[in-house]
Amino acid sequence: MPNMSLTKVPAEEQEPLVRNQNFLEVTMSYTPDQAVEEARRCLSCKNKPCVAGCPVNVRIPEFIAKVAVGDFKAAYEIISDTNALPCVSGRVCPQENQCEERCVRGIKGEAVAIGRLERFVADWYLKHGNALPEKPQPNGVKVAVVGSGPAGLTCASDLAKRGYAVTVFEAFHTAGGVLVYGIPEFRLPKAIVRSEVDKLKALGVDLRLDVVVGRTITIDELIENGYEAVFIGSGAGLPMFMGIEGENLAGVYSANEYLTRVNLMKAYRNDHDTPLRHSRAVAVVGGGNVAMDAARCAKRMGAEKVYLLYRRDEEEMPARREEVNHAKEEEIDFRLLTNPVRILGNEKGQACQIECMRMRLQAPDESGRRSPKAVPGSNFFLNVDTVIMALGTSPNPLIRSTTPGLETNRKGCLVVDEDTMRTTREGVYAGGDAVTGAATVILAMGAGKKAAQAMDEYLRGKRA
Ligand code: FAD
Repeated sequence: MPNMSLTKVPAEEQEPLVRNQNFLEVTMSYTPDQAVEEARRCLSCKNKPCVAGCPVNVRIPEFIAKVAVGDFKAAYEIISDTNALPCVSGRVCPQENQCEERCVRGIKGEAVAIGRLERFVADWYLKHGNALPEKPQPNGVKVAVVGSGPAGLTCASDLAKRGYAVTVFEAFHTAGGVLVYGIPEFRLPKAIVRSEVDKLKALGVDLRLDVVVGRTITIDELIENGYEAVFIGSGAGLPMFMGIEGENLAGVYSANEYLTRVNLMKAYRNDHDTPLRHSRAVAVVGGGNVAMDAARCAKRMGAEKVYLLYRRDEEEMPARREEVNHAKEEEIDFRLLTNPVRILGNEKGQACQIECMRMRLQAPDESGRRSPKAVPGSNFFLNVDTVIMALGTSPNPLIRSTTPGLETNRKGCLVVDEDTMRTTREGVYAGGDAVTGAATVILAMGAGKKAAQAMDEYLRGKRA
């Protein structure tokens, strides 16, 4: 008999006012009993709408059926057939807009907690069966992967499993991309990313850190050095600013810089000497996941007051609902329909105030979105010593500017053939945020997978 409860089995969480003082994970994994109980809510629909909602088409009802009978290893094998990083996606995927949005149980009540179940299975496997993979038989063909985010890691893993001699070139000193430098420890523990990177090494992948492709070595030089195909998964790490007065004052950060200092450079730990302003009052500008992460990090770093300034209303916020709720519970002060117009500095050139205007939403435009308009004379000031701009990012121009023949669109994203992820250069493929602009982990993984398949076909074709 299925479990006909209308609500998901709740996952335990740290208390908001405790967790906003530490960097430990906020939400706990299900226990085996909780997982079985939740799995029994799945109706195993014949037409599987949830699978169509998953960008990598995980066979969701099949893995959930295994969880329901307590066969967690079999459940893991089903998930990992199509999803290379389930510990990651189970934690950060926007399931509410993907698989869970299509779940039939969601029509009357809450959808099955597919994300929590995926996370449970992946965490269970990490504890109980996480053997390192065996090194496949090498085929002697060299391929290069630029960037070690979810797109690069997935592409490298799939190519290495097919026997290719894969080298990953990463600009930072640690592999993982946004998974290590952007998403904070309390949402995605870094030990999980490390274990995925260890699997890659066990497959024989050669990881070259501190190599900036386009500076240390170019794509053309990689090809001259015998790499027969190249995958570019260099992400979209270039931050945007508003262009308002005062953005060059001390104490004004891009969210990328702030989060990199906190997460990758471990500014939150006493045994690291990464410099970071000891802020008392912080304004974070933006309404996406990045803004939520920056605001919640600032609170954990000891700020007494953290404002979140967003020019639209809550309904329009692009951040995941869960992250918005968590941020509010952690005492982030949401100032909606609010837009900064200027940052003011003190005599030492440090930010000390932000001037804002109230906004009003207009009728929906052609895209269906309601654009905000400033309310004349509504200016007001907030006393802050730190401002963090979380307004979005775009791909860094370095690779496109040093690789002749590599076409980009007007947003600076690499142009690819959508079926093969091939760029406008033969033998050069790309995927993830470098192609789409800032998007999601699961889409980046899907692109890495698709590219690996196409690169394999291309390289086999060359030898036929
Ligand atoms: P990235 O993860 O950006 O990795 C690119 C890698 O390439 C980096 O390691 C970079 O150092 C390296 N690189 C760049 N240029 C070069 C070069 N020239 N040479 C060598 N290496 C280079 N998505 C979700 O699905 N859920 C979330 O909750 C979520 N939260 C987010 C929170 C934050 C703070 C941020 C910033 C993003 C978040 N995202 C989230 C988006 C998601 O993380 C990205 O869409 C995803 O990481 C893109 O993967 P990628 O592999 O394309 O690029």
